[in-house]
Amino acid sequence: MDVTEKRMNKKERAKERREKRHEEISRLRTIPYSDHHRWWSGETIAVVTGGNRGIGFEITRQLALHGLTVILTSRDTIEGELATKTLLEEGLKVVFHQLDIVDHQSIDLFCAWVKEKYGGIDILINNAGISYNTGSENSVECAEKVINTNYFGTKNMIKAVIPLMRSSAGGARVVMVSSRLGRLNGRRNRIADVDLRQQLEHVESLSEDIIDSTMNKFLEQVKDGSWVTGGWPQNNTDYSLSKLAVNAYTRLLARTLSEWPEGQKIYVNCCCPGWVKTAMTGWAGLTSPEEGADTPVWLALLPGQSTSGKFFAERREINF
Ligand code: NDP
Repeated sequence: MDVTEKRMNKKERAKERREKRHEEISRLRTIPYSDHHRWWSGETIAVVTGGNRGIGFEITRQLALHGLTVILTSRDTIEGELATKTLLEEGLKVVFHQLDIVDHQSIDLFCAWVKEKYGGIDILINNAGISYNTGSENSVECAEKVINTNYFGTKNMIKAVIPLMRSSAGGARVVMVSSRLGRLNGRRNRIADVDLRQQLEHVESLSEDIIDSTMNKFLEQVKDGSWVTGGWPQNNTDYSLSKLAVNAYTRLLARTLSEWPEGQKIYVNCCCPGWVKTAMTGWAGLTSPEEGADTPVWLALLPGQSTSGKFFAERREINF
């Protein structure tokens, strides 16, 4: 068998495994949660960022179908209200509020409203994100915007919302919709600097400063043009780095939150939705937004939750 044939076989086997897993997940999705596992109620408040379209819209729909009250947020009020109307017409308990995760004033207004109306939040799904490259393009023209939204914006939200998260026996939950492109040790798409990779990997010594300075160093190199030889991930560089930072921050946050007392626990995990047919991918991709929303929703609703600081795809833990 020559190299091309071997590669084809590998691809076909991977496709077969993927299709089998998708079938398995479709089956799992038909099994209703038992009363024993259903820790939430109609009073449980979930917030979804970037809920007006794509995966975020489907996450909102699926959480609401499970009977939660879901706050669909969107940076564009008209888009958000239209999306909310669609779900209200399906009989779901969905409420709209404007929220732009890179606008501190918008976040503050949102938090004040949530506190006043509901008293707190039980689940936060950090789904909002951007990418300006499709296919094999690798422009970093919008790198600052991408890192500011996907990493710094997500962090803004977490910092503002954590004080609002309600104590409960089941624990509050934060789910980050991240990407496999942000893997630290991906075979083909990783940071070349082994020391930096190790710093970002060791959760015991990981700090916000290490993550932030990695992003800032990359952005400085984008400005002076030296990023090309900087040893950064080769595929969708700015986006991959932004998600690498989200993943690292998930582990750091989980470590910090693990010290909180019983009864006040907040569990935080990240996941990859797969390659999904949305505006972000120019509607390429292998799965529907409905399937892409499955793992984030499953993670948010895990019964008997105690998992924190982990990375998931297709309802399974994967390596960072
Ligand atoms: P879409 O482009 O369809 O949706 C992205 C959503 O994020 C939109 O609602 C968008 O709002 C919102 N958004 C962007 N910037 C902000 C902001 N500053 N404040 C609030 N909302 C904002 O993409 P997807 O549904 O595919 O992506 C959802 C998430 O899934 C992203 O985090 C993405 O990185 C991740 N992901 C997607 C994959 C895929 O294959 N599609 C693969 C791996 C991860 P607006 O409509 O106003 O632009």
